[in-house]
Amino acid sequence: LMFGKARTCNIVTVPEHEPSECNIVILGAVGSGKSALTVKFLTKRFISEYDPNLEDTYSSEEVVDQQPVLVKVMDTADQDGPLNCERYLGWANAFIIVYSIDNRNSFEACQQYLETVTLYSKGLQPEAPVILLGNKVDMERYRQVSKADGAALALRFGCLFFEVSACLDFLSVQHIFHEVVREVRRE
Ligand code: GDP
Ligand code: MG
Repeated sequence: LMFGKARTCNIVTVPEHEPSECNIVILGAVGSGKSALTVKFLTKRFISEYDPNLEDTYSSEEVVDQQPVLVKVMDTADQDGPLNCERYLGWANAFIIVYSIDNRNSFEACQQYLETVTLYSKGLQPEAPVILLGNKVDMERYRQVSKADGAALALRFGCLFFEVSACLDFLSVQHIFHEVVREVRRE
């Protein structure tokens, strides 16, 4: 039973949060497919010829697990490994280090990036997740780096490991970027 006036109910409106941001740096040897992966993620298309010297940062408004996030991707184009790393170390919330499964040298080149980036990231609070990514799985016939080798290197540096192809389905490429966002949110 209710006496008197019914209470007015205050509806508390929670202000919409600004979409959070996630800065992802793509590193790796020239020719490993950094630009192809970046462009695939942003446009769903595979661009086979991309200026190998072009370095740029792109943004995409994504929704990951029903939450908006502004993903920024810095597609680097270093010729000389992580020597010149100041521009991205402080900027990044996460690092994707790419090699091509059909090129052993590109895999070897990941080690220097992993050393530089994991050393830096471990000193951060929160840490910046690091992902080792074997690209070009469509080139299986020419594989020079086994999946086990990739997984072992990732384990050594305590990072995540995926294999993918920039020229196959869009969703597997998108999945990797979204997993990176999830990792950043977990930190
Ligand atoms: P980046 O120097 O790391 O940016 O490499 P690019 O994205 O420019 O790619 C280098 C070359 O590899 C280009 O000829 C691309 O077409 C090719 N490429 C990139 N990703 C793939 C892939 O997943 N599969 C195959 N077969 N070729 C790829
Ligand atoms: Mg490139």
